[in-house]
Amino acid sequence: MRKFNVAVVGATGAVGEELFRIMEEIDFPVAELLPLASAKSVGTSITFNDVDYPVYELTETIFEEHEVDIAFFSAGGSISAKFAKYAVEGGAVVIDNTSHFRMDPAIPLVVPEVNPEDIKMWKDTGIIANPNCSTIQMVQALKPLDDLYGIKRVDVSTYQATSGAGKAGMEELVNQMSDFFAFKLDDSKKEAFAHQIALNVIPQVDVAMESGFTKEEEKMIYETQKILHRDIAIAATCVRVPVLRSHSEAITVTFESDVDVDLDECRRVIHEFENVEVMDDLKNAIYPMPIISTDTDITYVGRLRKDIYSSNMIHFFNVADQIRVGAATNSIRIALKWIELENN
Ligand code: NAP
Repeated sequence: MRKFNVAVVGATGAVGEELFRIMEEIDFPVAELLPLASAKSVGTSITFNDVDYPVYELTETIFEEHEVDIAFFSAGGSISAKFAKYAVEGGAVVIDNTSHFRMDPAIPLVVPEVNPEDIKMWKDTGIIANPNCSTIQMVQALKPLDDLYGIKRVDVSTYQATSGAGKAGMEELVNQMSDFFAFKLDDSKKEAFAHQIALNVIPQVDVAMESGFTKEEEKMIYETQKILHRDIAIAATCVRVPVLRSHSEAITVTFESDVDVDLDECRRVIHEFENVEVMDDLKNAIYPMPIISTDTDITYVGRLRKDIYSSNMIHFFNVADQIRVGAATNSIRIALKWIELENN
């Protein structure tokens, strides 16, 4: 089997580190590995399959110099905006984890279980966009339901982990908690989020938009429509919670008005969907929680119930490890599909 020269831009970050772990776990066909980060990380190294790889500074020419075939980008939107084109010019396919290219009509936005066929569009620009983490785990549950009954509307509230804001977000929660136990919480650093996150919830993820929604909420709306190729009505409320890892979502789905929902059928189609599992036994306190999904590649769905007043409406809860399913694992799944489509 052919092996590929792989660059990871953002190699020292939360998503970058997870990309290396997953590539090791699944024995991704790596020929040469090129970890890239900012100048401040030069001198550090990444251990991959027991070999230490030095971290290089991201530059315009590095992709061509190292003959990179696949470039994973996860160093923020402005870095992708500036450097993705050099990776493409150097001959690589770019799989981008940032929001920068997601809504560009020329660039495919892919969750491989949901819209793998869109990957073919990569040839137009050399870039494939990885959706927002909250969007990925939601569309994995919506797709089988949409195929079953036709979705008219989705209302979602999220409970998003601090690691969604990178390593700095995770560290800020841990530091604030230890400052709380040392009676120093008032003096604790509050930089990663708009407010203290320890012992609090913050109903804001990302910046405010003209619509009154936040950017994260708008991402969930417009990315879902692009991935499903459907103009479904969607409203999102995105909330940061003091959880280290794995996002949760409470989702209400309204189907076409003539639908009388069979809940067992909903359970069946979700459970049969690739990489999704139903975990739903309320009487025995069995349902998805962040501690269950963390460090896994599965999206868990539970608390399924039919609305008391409308026969065409259901409610459920889902969780997924947003650094894996919502970022690194999805990128690797895109890369594997790309290899399958383009190299066989
Ligand atoms: P992070 O932990 O803060 O890591 C950021 C990475 O970007 C580090 O490797 C950093 O390198 C690198 N970087 C920063 N400035 C750079 C520069 N000028 N040149 C080259 N590299 C630079 O962030 P993260 O959580 O991994 O997120 C990275 C991206 O993935 C973001 O766009 C984020 O929105 C997206 N994403 C994150 C998640 C999540 O759950 N965390 C989920 C989906 C998507 P240094 O260490 O050298 O500074």
